[in-house]
Amino acid sequence: MIGERLKRARAAAGLSMEKLGKAAGVSANMIKKYEHDHSMPSSPVLIKMADVLGVRIEFFFRPVRVHLSGVEYRKKSSVPQKVLDRITADVLDQAERWFELRNLWPAFPVPDFSLPESLPEINSVEDVEQFSLAVRNQWQLGLNPLPDLIDLLESKGILVIITASEQADKFDGLQAKVEGQPIVVVSSQWPGCRQRFTLAHELGHLLLHESLPSTMDEEVACNRFASSFLLPAVGAFEHLGNQRRKIDWKELHLLKHEYGLSMAGILYRCKDLNILEEHQYKKQFIEFSARGWRKAEPGEPYPAEHTLLFEQLVYRGAGEGIISDAKAAELLKIPLAMFRQSKMMEGAQA
Ligand SMILES: [Zn+2]
Repeated sequence: MIGERLKRARAAAGLSMEKLGKAAGVSANMIKKYEHDHSMPSSPVLIKMADVLGVRIEFFFRPVRVHLSGVEYRKKSSVPQKVLDRITADVLDQAERWFELRNLWPAFPVPDFSLPESLPEINSVEDVEQFSLAVRNQWQLGLNPLPDLIDLLESKGILVIITASEQADKFDGLQAKVEGQPIVVVSSQWPGCRQRFTLAHELGHLLLHESLPSTMDEEVACNRFASSFLLPAVGAFEHLGNQRRKIDWKELHLLKHEYGLSMAGILYRCKDLNILEEHQYKKQFIEFSARGWRKAEPGEPYPAEHTLLFEQLVYRGAGEGIISDAKAAELLKIPLAMFRQSKMMEGAQA
């Protein structure tokens, strides 16, 4: 039965029953019957639907194994439910392939997520600084910039999903659990800095949630966690000095490229760390906004983050004979011949 699958694919494509029906040459009512498993489409209809929905026919016949639970959206209040449904469908598709791979592996090389062992208590927002240092310490990250945040999160058992859903710029990140494992979703359309801040912020939720006093605003704490995790106080003082009256835009730009925190984020950090006094920060922030830089920061953007782990594991799994080439191709959503070619780097530019 293909009902649940069809529903997900239709949500992912953002199509109404009417539109899909029209494209596949059946009524909206018939689509409804398919989705409720009250009727089964003929092969020609199935082929048309797969085509319109941009999925392979096999997609409809894969058993539904994964269900999202505990979905928490960080979204702008204006995001329509339809957009969220599309993003959720994309996330489900990716998460499902991830868990399918994991379940086929006898001893999956990525650990389950667990909290670092001894983290300091938090009584005030300032304590978050020590907390994020302790996390860096426990994970042996030192104090240097973190070049690849997705890789770091994934190696700790947090599944990172990059969604390319068209309207993904309308949401600010999503955190959910799949089969008890945390996943974080960011958009491929954001600049690297924004992806990184969201990743670090969502990591903050995972790490801090249990240890925050009930009086503290979790969003504020997670923002502080994100900025201090990306740019530890020591690094900020070292590069900017302990006290400044003004910081040139170019300095912010250079530091952004070193630590992967946005210029606006660094400016804010200067206020948090008292490198700038409140009124000095405000003055600079107003100028920053007036130049339109809150929408798009000046100069070369910080490069976007990438997920590689899933793809790596698929090739490794096929290489070790844990999964067949056919399964690998299905997981990567490419034809078998293309998978075999890509394995050999055939057709790749030297
Ligand atoms: Zn949050």
